[in-house]
Amino acid sequence: MSPGRLVLEAKGLHRDYGSVVAVDALDLSMSEGEFLTIVGPNGAGKSTLLSMLSGAMRPTTGSVSVCGEELDFARHEWRHRIGMLSHKGFLYDRMTVEENLNFYGKLFGIADLKDRIASRLRRVGLSERARSEVRKLSHGMRQRASLARALLHDPDLVLLDEPYSGLDPAAALVLRDVLEELKDGRRTVVMVTHNLREGLEMATRIAIQVGGRFEWEGSLKGARWEDFESHYHCVVEGRV
Ligand code: ADP
Repeated sequence: MSPGRLVLEAKGLHRDYGSVVAVDALDLSMSEGEFLTIVGPNGAGKSTLLSMLSGAMRPTTGSVSVCGEELDFARHEWRHRIGMLSHKGFLYDRMTVEENLNFYGKLFGIADLKDRIASRLRRVGLSERARSEVRKLSHGMRQRASLARALLHDPDLVLLDEPYSGLDPAAALVLRDVLEELKDGRRTVVMVTHNLREGLEMATRIAIQVGGRFEWEGSLKGARWEDFESHYHCVVEGRV
């Protein structure tokens, strides 16, 4: 299969917090259809990396391009290409789920908004809570609403920071199906997770991030997750 078009290109991406180097001169290229899972210990710089890839955080040095367009903090046109799910959620607490999606949908200029919202809510299993205020939702429901928001505008690049966090087993299954559907060859996905098993099953590429760098990167298609777990510990402990 020929590689798809280049969707994401990060060059020399670096972020310091004072004397702490969170992301250390990292390069990353991803084509259409690829699904990269990033795993690593707390403090490895995974969330910082995703924030920079989403354009929410400015790198100390380095650049990010999405579909050939460099993220420029003074402009906003590129935002329609990116969908981000993070612990921040980007939802307004005192608005209902539907009002939130309506607000974001209008920002993105989505034409068939009513149908789009209904279909996204159905997909994440939240139709019954469309009229609930976000502040009244459980953590797992909020996570589903955030997922519906992240995917509302059909982005080319989907960034997921710990999407399994706080989900009960039924909600985790829904998420897994939604993520499988994102592997439609058209989308590019970067997921940060502590769930090694789900991370491995979903990925076309895996990176183990330690100390702001990808200490190991590759494809483990068909690998047993128990073997991946041992490999992960070796990399994190510096034994490979
Ligand atoms: P991870 O997502 O892998 O747990 P983070 O990206 O959250 O890692 O953090 C990477 C490093 O940057 C850690 O050492 C963390 O303490 C530090 N860090 C993250 N955010 C801030 C901040 N706002 N101010 C200072 N240090 C930070």
